Amino acid sequence: MADQLVRATAAEGGIRAVGAITTRLSDEARQRHKLSYVATAALGRTMTAGLLLASSMKRPESRVNIRIRGNGPLGGLLVDAGLDGTVRGYVHRPDVELPPNDKGKLDVGGAVGHEGFVYVVRDVGFGYPYSSTVELVTGEIGDDITHYLASSEQTPSALVLGVFVDATGVTAAGGLLIQVLPKAATDEGLVELLESRISALAGFTPMLQAGKTLNDMFEQLLGDLGLEILPEVQLLRFHCRCSHDRALGALKLFSIPELESMIVQDDGAEAVCDFCGNVYRASSDQLEQLIGELRAESSL
Ligand SMILES: [Zn+2]
Repeated sequence: MADQLVRATAAEGGIRAVGAITTRLSDEARQRHKLSYVATAALGRTMTAGLLLASSMKRPESRVNIRIRGNGPLGGLLVDAGLDGTVRGYVHRPDVELPPNDKGKLDVGGAVGHEGFVYVVRDVGFGYPYSSTVELVTGEIGDDITHYLASSEQTPSALVLGVFVDATGVTAAGGLLIQVLPKAATDEGLVELLESRISALAGFTPMLQAGKTLNDMFEQLLGDLGLEILPEVQLLRFHCRCSHDRALGALKLFSIPELESMIVQDDGAEAVCDFCGNVYRASSDQLEQLIGELRAESSL
């Protein structure tokens, strides 16, 4: 099934639901960054969370950045997701692998760490981005993002995220976010009902592997609560906005002597994009041109 996002409402608009299938984009991240199993799960879950959070924004250029810094060996990760369905991201230590946790699952919490912070920046496309920080709860990502939504955005939310990865790569990934909006948030019974239903789910990837669609999952969770599934199916993909021009622009941060030594020692320079792993090469001629531009700028 193609990577996709579907939105729904229930309880006469009091409940907002969004589901995402992110199998292919999680596997693309795994291949681009040569991620270990546990790093694949950590980044796939966070990319899914980013897309789910971005889906409720309004302006087309809106984006959500999630940065996680934990005390685990993964060292942290960064995800950039847009309302347009694009996402990119990376982890600091892509090769870290850990034995399964006591439930026999990939130990994402152990890799991310149980202490540290989640920073979320919502860029609405104009003016100042809105940012907030919460402490990590378990490092399992789902718990941490739920905690962020409850404490920073005061929106009671139930979230399930899953990434299944084996020797062939990511074979199932995605998540569901169910939120109780302010008009219904005083109904504590409703919040508890949704939490209990989400926790009663077998997990996202088993449902996907059993052939369930996002619509089936919404039906299972909200079918008796006035569910309305929006007809639009939005496609999702891994996409980075880097380019050769941007990479060259970044080289302007070096000093003229540093650029000159790149010409002498390496006959050019190589820049690797952190987000997607693309390699950009600048020839000596291009570096000479940059040096010329820097000289012209400094003589203004
Ligand atoms: Zn890139």
